[in-house]
Amino acid sequence: MTAFDYAPAPESASVVDIASSYGLFINGEFTDATSGESLKTINPATEENLAEVAVAGTEDVERAVRAARTAYERTWGPMPGPERSKYLFRIARLLAERSREFAVLEVLDNGKPIREARDMDIPMASAYFFYYAGWADKLDYAGRGANPRPHGVAGQVIPWNFPLLMLAWKIAPALAAGNTVVLKPAETTPLTALLFADLLQQADLPPGVVNIITGAGRTGADLIAHPDVDKVAFTGSTKVGKQIARQVAGTHKQATLELGGKAANIIFDDAPVDQAVEGIVNGIYFNAGQVCCAGSRLLVAESVADEVIDRLKARLGTLRVGDPMDKNTDVGAVNSAAQLSRITELANAGDAEGAVRWSAPGDLPEKGYWFPPTVFTEVSTAHRIAREEIFGPVLSVLTFRTPDEAIAKANNTPYGLSAGVWTEKGSRILAMADAIRSGVVWANTFNKFDPASPFGGYKESGYGREGGRHGLLPYLIEGGTQ
Ligand code: NAD
Repeated sequence: MTAFDYAPAPESASVVDIASSYGLFINGEFTDATSGESLKTINPATEENLAEVAVAGTEDVERAVRAARTAYERTWGPMPGPERSKYLFRIARLLAERSREFAVLEVLDNGKPIREARDMDIPMASAYFFYYAGWADKLDYAGRGANPRPHGVAGQVIPWNFPLLMLAWKIAPALAAGNTVVLKPAETTPLTALLFADLLQQADLPPGVVNIITGAGRTGADLIAHPDVDKVAFTGSTKVGKQIARQVAGTHKQATLELGGKAANIIFDDAPVDQAVEGIVNGIYFNAGQVCCAGSRLLVAESVADEVIDRLKARLGTLRVGDPMDKNTDVGAVNSAAQLSRITELANAGDAEGAVRWSAPGDLPEKGYWFPPTVFTEVSTAHRIAREEIFGPVLSVLTFRTPDEAIAKANNTPYGLSAGVWTEKGSRILAMADAIRSGVVWANTFNKFDPASPFGGYKESGYGREGGRHGLLPYLIEGGTQ
């Protein structure tokens, strides 16, 4: 049987207007940065320059926090919950209406396939706003007692792997609870946050309720250090998360940290193999593995390991790697040259330590940042590729003989964000979920999200939860009865 060839099915970049330069979004309008500095954001699939964005300096951070404080005291804080809720519903609807524009822009700035941005990132971002819109007038039932209060100004810093979705995870619960926001997107993916600022103008959100300031780590550090920020929310690397934890220790600020992961995806010998293979692919090649909860360690029962690996390699041979704007593409570009060199360095360490590398056959585009879907076998728990977060399309395979060995290996990591269990036995699923030290355990599926369901880590994967009722709690203080 010959495989069908796919005709190109390119999405159109013309559905979105990208300005040549962007200022900061402070107090409801775009303004120049007083720092006078800027940075370029590029398309990682082509290395083309997309736009220049302002870098917020200390004075700009000051202006943004002041705008958020004023809005908190004068408009958003005193506003009744049902009124706040109307704005959140409006934002959710506008995101849904403008989803194609947002999806295309996310692809251009991030490098992920349009299929993922269109079917996951943008609809989920809208869904989180819809979900938290429903909470804004029901905060008495959130779990902080009657009449809970917001903190005030939330300083939020997010990474580049799900730019708009991480923005939604941060902004939606903060606003529902009555806080105002200063958010800093990642330096390599600022554009959907800036388009979101445009959407906020369209939604008539009162000025200062959400402020978006662009820049790199220094801007993020300035924001978190600002004395008038009451609540800190950070998603990013464990290294920066630890710095932030030290920075806020001993201050009045409360922090939520969503950090790295090294999830075990555990395949028992009674698992339905074809479904498990799809789960492995979704677990580590979705968003080219640049996912904090990626199933980057495959733990497979020794008796079925050969069969699972053979079928996995056959499946990986069918993945289409390349132009992220093509609707048939499965795996897009790596987000930046820096990330590509980190993935390359760790994969080389896998070779050097004696693991066996296999990469899916096929040519990669010449321009841009690419890494082929890769599987390492003969991996031991001591190898760097089994311990460190690679944050790329690289799977490390380990085997086990007993459930206890699987549990010991799964928990043998400083991280604790997510895990997957594949088995036909319900009792085994429950026992594994009890024994694995991670915030999320998926059973016979992987990388599934729902706005009503909390997500977050144990150990060095951070603390606090996002999503669901639990995701509101970090944005609320006990109010007591009045
Ligand atoms: P990063 O920590 O380098 O950067 C994240 C954000 O923090 C960026 O906006 C960056 O500009 C900013 N930043 C950098 N230094 C800072 C500092 N000193 N103070 C304040 N802000 C600073 O991480 P990254 O490479 O952009 O993202 C990848 C990491 O994020 C991975 O480790 C991944 O696991 C993690 N991540 C976690 C989750 C989660 O929910 N747990 C989700 C997505 C990504």
